[in-house]
Amino acid sequence: MSPPPAVESQVQALTDLYNSIQNARHYPRDLLKATVLPNPLPLTPPSLSLYSQQLKDIAHTLRSDAVQAALRAAQESQKADGQNIMNNVRRENRKRRRPASPESPQPYTVTERQSSSLFPVTKDDLTCLKSSELVEYIRQFNKEHSSCKLGIWQGTRSSNKDVKNPATLRFTIKDVLTAYLTVSYTTSDLALLVESVTTFGPRERKLPHSQSEYSVYRMLSQEFGRMIHSDPQVGFQKFITLLCSYENMFTMRCDKCQRVLCVEGHVAAVERVWNESNGQWEPRHISC
Ligand SMILES: [Zn+2]
Repeated sequence: MSPPPAVESQVQALTDLYNSIQNARHYPRDLLKATVLPNPLPLTPPSLSLYSQQLKDIAHTLRSDAVQAALRAAQESQKADGQNIMNNVRRENRKRRRPASPESPQPYTVTERQSSSLFPVTKDDLTCLKSSELVEYIRQFNKEHSSCKLGIWQGTRSSNKDVKNPATLRFTIKDVLTAYLTVSYTTSDLALLVESVTTFGPRERKLPHSQSEYSVYRMLSQEFGRMIHSDPQVGFQKFITLLCSYENMFTMRCDKCQRVLCVEGHVAAVERVWNESNGQWEPRHISC
């Protein structure tokens, strides 16, 4: 019998490789990372060593003359006439360049999402502030705080004057910052949700949708964005408590390095990390 045509055996070699790489995507994530490093895991449990051996086999197959020749032939063929190549063939090519990348999208992200909130779990969780309670809440808040003030932003002449369900609130800490909070309302019970926060220096005259001239306030705005992103449904009162923790922003020490300004960039601690043991937001530098 004559040997099969070269192209058929090449397609078979690439199909086998593709299938083994697809299979390797289900291997433990840490193992995939470890095999990328120059030194493999020093102590490998028996169950992992099986995966490890299979990964080595894939690498060996990938480097083999037969697969390399097939890949070159495929590349040449695509260059010569790349038309009418179906999507799955392209996918195959892409995966060939990045076999078993540990940065590829992983399953099970849905379960991780539930614990991603950077906010503490507190009693406030049960009582989300409703739109009808906002005015009374602001009145009470301003009575209880001397240096922090909360208000409804009236805006410019032409802007939204809906005082019942305002779109923008203004929060200030005397001599520290001005923050504009864009808020929305849940459709079911009109509870307040913070959409975004933009912060400015206390004497900056800027509109809520612009940005500060000072990098520290731009970093702070980004930091709030990160916090909201971690928990878009966070209760309004809980968010205001976070804002209040910036009262001594320029004089408090970072809880990690114990400095007021970080070594690189000389920026104040704009990050806040919840401390479960004392029930407070602790300041931290972004670089710490
Ligand atoms: Zn620090």
